[in-house]
Amino acid sequence: MQHEFAQVLNTWPIERRKEVIASTTKAQVARALARENLEPIDFLRLLSPCALEMLEDLAQRAHELTIRYFGRAVNIFTPLYISDICTNQCRYCGFNAKNRQKRTHLSVDQAFQEAKFLHDQGHRNILLLTGDAPKIASPKYVADVVREIKSLFASVGIEIYALSEEDYALLIQTGVDSMTMFQETYEPTLYSWLHPVGPKHDYTWRLNAPSRACAAGMRCVGVGALLGLTAFPEDAFATGLHAYWLEQTYPGVDIGLSIPRICPHEGSFNVEHAVDDRHFVQYVTALRCFLPRASITCSTRESPRMRDHLVPLGVTRVSAGVSTAVGGRATPNNNNPGQFEITDHRSLPEMCAALKTIGYQAVLKDWEDPSLSSVATACAS
Ligand code: SF4
Repeated sequence: MQHEFAQVLNTWPIERRKEVIASTTKAQVARALARENLEPIDFLRLLSPCALEMLEDLAQRAHELTIRYFGRAVNIFTPLYISDICTNQCRYCGFNAKNRQKRTHLSVDQAFQEAKFLHDQGHRNILLLTGDAPKIASPKYVADVVREIKSLFASVGIEIYALSEEDYALLIQTGVDSMTMFQETYEPTLYSWLHPVGPKHDYTWRLNAPSRACAAGMRCVGVGALLGLTAFPEDAFATGLHAYWLEQTYPGVDIGLSIPRICPHEGSFNVEHAVDDRHFVQYVTALRCFLPRASITCSTRESPRMRDHLVPLGVTRVSAGVSTAVGGRATPNNNNPGQFEITDHRSLPEMCAALKTIGYQAVLKDWEDPSLSSVATACAS
């Protein structure tokens, strides 16, 4: 029962959402912004066209709440792709199994070399990524990599395929302390079309993965949708609702959100519902008002300008020194272009300096696994 977010989502059918959005007034938006604890209906009102006209008010409230709960500190992490073998055919992804490209699967030793390179650059917060190939990039393989690299980092997160509660528990025991799961879209019919074959085709298994990670004892759990797959604000609302429900259901877990917007990739995918910058800012500020304590992660899909702009409005985690390809730093790669194109190529020192310029402090380490005595911290700025 605890695992069933779908039941909550079903209480918000599209017709009900449309009614709320169409009937929202500026007075209701103002009331929502004045509340300390927002309900899902308030969040939906903040995503309405009426609220878009009050974007400055949303921005001010979001800034106030971000300063109250996070100060001027921004957590920095970097992704490490360790395998791009994938059995899925997600229509929007460069790692799609149908794309004819050489695949790379790092050995545990190669993964260590790549991780050591990132450690030597100053990174202390790492996110491991794989494609969805559970027989090759198995939970045991990921656990072996984590065991090998754990002493280099204060925090090791995962952004991999959906696991069972037992496998999440295995990875937690090994040293993983955070996970992110992108539902991509919360609209089941579209989801099925976008993910025609492979394990990811199972909408419900994926939808319940964050709950299973919470139940297994994960310290931080993040959710997100790939904005641009459905008309705004459908997935925006569902993502916020999912995070809200997880916060209520698992109060001991730090719940976070990621806010990716779809961007071009190898192959072709027609983005029918591109989210423009104003709606994107509306989404981030509405999320911050609805979930004032949740971390919000902005990836390098966004430009340096947009990322810097979003920090005072709610973003609390950013990546730096990013590559979305497997290998290529300390080990050979196949000149693959990576999972998606990035638009912010700043290194760790450049990111730290950029945050300093706008009055914020880069935090490379804000937590330490109690089983590790010390992991050196160094800000490269
Ligand atoms: S989005 Fe993930 S699961 Fe889908 S094809 Fe890309 S790597 Fe594989």
